[in-house]
Amino acid sequence: MAQQTMRGIRLGAHSLESEIGVTYSPRNKHRYQCINSHISELVFAQDAELPKTWQCKTCSEQATLLTEGKLIKLDLDELKTPRSHWEMLLERRSKDELEEILKERISYIRARRKAGKADV
Ligand SMILES: [Zn+2]
Repeated sequence: MAQQTMRGIRLGAHSLESEIGVTYSPRNKHRYQCINSHISELVFAQDAELPKTWQCKTCSEQATLLTEGKLIKLDLDELKTPRSHWEMLLERRSKDELEEILKERISYIRARRKAGKADV
């Protein structure tokens, strides 16, 4: 039995697959625009569900899908606006609770100051 040999080939240099007879699935080009007005063009399969946002290829900001030249409307939770500490606090505590905590903290600090152990 003849021993089969593999000829040396640089991996990754050439594709052994041919494109003959390959039919590409239909695809469409879509444009995304970031806050700095950069346009990123992306290609998606025609039947793919389009992401509403994509990272800008130029500045890495969040870019929003354009349809007919206009930015699509994003829901609030899709906007990449980080919540402030205050907003996160308000999600966990009501203002009344916060007033209570503030009062406790103020009387604690006052007591320490009176005792000569002042917090800065
Ligand atoms: Zn950008």
